[in-house]
Amino acid sequence: MPFSKFGLETEILQAVEKAGYTRPTPVQERSIPMVMKGHDLIAIAQTGTGKTAAFVLPILHRLSLLNRERELHGTRALILAPTRELVLQIAENIAIYGQHLPIRIAAIYGGVDEEAQLKTLRKGVHLIVATPGRLMDFLDQQKLDFHPLETLVLDEADRMLHMGFLPDIEKIISALPQRRQTLMFSATFSKEVESLARRFLNQPKMIQIGNRSEAADTVSQCVYEVQPHLKGPLLVELLKQPKFKRVLVFVRMKDGANRLTDFLRAAQVKVTKLHSSRTQEQRQKALQDFKDGIYQVLVATDIVARGIDIDGVTQVINFDFPVNPEDYVHRVGRTGRAEHQGEAISFVPKGDLNLLGITELTLGQRLVRKKLRGFDYFAKSPAPSAEAPPAKRDWRKRTREMEAKKSEKPVAPKTPWPKAKKPPGKRGKK
Ligand code: AMP
Repeated sequence: MPFSKFGLETEILQAVEKAGYTRPTPVQERSIPMVMKGHDLIAIAQTGTGKTAAFVLPILHRLSLLNRERELHGTRALILAPTRELVLQIAENIAIYGQHLPIRIAAIYGGVDEEAQLKTLRKGVHLIVATPGRLMDFLDQQKLDFHPLETLVLDEADRMLHMGFLPDIEKIISALPQRRQTLMFSATFSKEVESLARRFLNQPKMIQIGNRSEAADTVSQCVYEVQPHLKGPLLVELLKQPKFKRVLVFVRMKDGANRLTDFLRAAQVKVTKLHSSRTQEQRQKALQDFKDGIYQVLVATDIVARGIDIDGVTQVINFDFPVNPEDYVHRVGRTGRAEHQGEAISFVPKGDLNLLGITELTLGQRLVRKKLRGFDYFAKSPAPSAEAPPAKRDWRKRTREMEAKKSEKPVAPKTPWPKAKKPPGKRGKK
């Protein structure tokens, strides 16, 4: 089915063509006609399936009609998304798809000065893309007028609920007109998502694209079983292969991201990092530089796992295996996007084998085990290590302490090993 079959305005079709889209993705094919008819919609779709265009194109179509009727004034659509990065990405997509339309949009998110965003709002915008937190601040300050609003989109609804945005979402929705179209996109259909839909959607149509716990078919997935202290060196070895062009490496903690970045830099890898303790400016720059190919590697926490679209990520590497199978699917969804081939590689030390097992059960498949030829999987202490430095303690002292505790004897102070005196009688004995 070509895009032209949807009945979208010509300006939108031109922009879609310019973006290089030849045919709609399945989520677009199924959502766009329902949204154009005015239905509420719950779409359960994996990341990277083209869901942004699925809701943005019909909204733009509506704005374009209003413009033609000279009725285009006031904020007509609100899109809520969980993270600043996703808000910016959606806003960028709107700018692309709406490049031939006279629409004004505002991207509202925290972590940056309010004034610039308020200035944009004061000029009047037709479409707002926002994270719930900052939008709530503006609502409290009575900076927003949602009377003309027609469409509300909740993007990555499951993620917003996970992040604790429910109270903000409830308050925001209570400030919107009751008569509106509500579209909800979510990677999973949990009980919480279902309850949100029941409360705020009106006789919604529902579509589900793919299995909720599957990664896209365009991603090949494998596992390297490797000891924790060898994960860094193994990563460096893999990165030497020419096919590792644009590599997104996931770690669990911000500290881990900092340590791994330093380790890779020391190994001459072009690497940048993204986690929540960095400023918004640093986060945007890291993402942009990675997108522009300035860096081969972006080390990130799960903050980047959802929704974020980076063209041509060749590999996603779970340097730390995700605790939650859903996070696995989201991380892996950063590669193999828009029908390109991608590779997802997980480093799994013994201690994480149980997590791997749970993820495999959820995925319904056993992931292929791989070994890098020539890599020493039994190396003792590579230096320096990308893993956490061992806690500063003297294991001999600790053993003595534990033994003393067992026998309830006081701990003997650490003394240097006595120089072994050879018994005189044995000297020279042959
Ligand atoms: P999304 O799931 O909305 O983040 O989209 C994932 C990627 O697919 C983005 O890079 C889009 O530009 C791209 N995309 C969306 N729709 C299409 C389409 N119909 N044909 C080709 N690429 C698309």
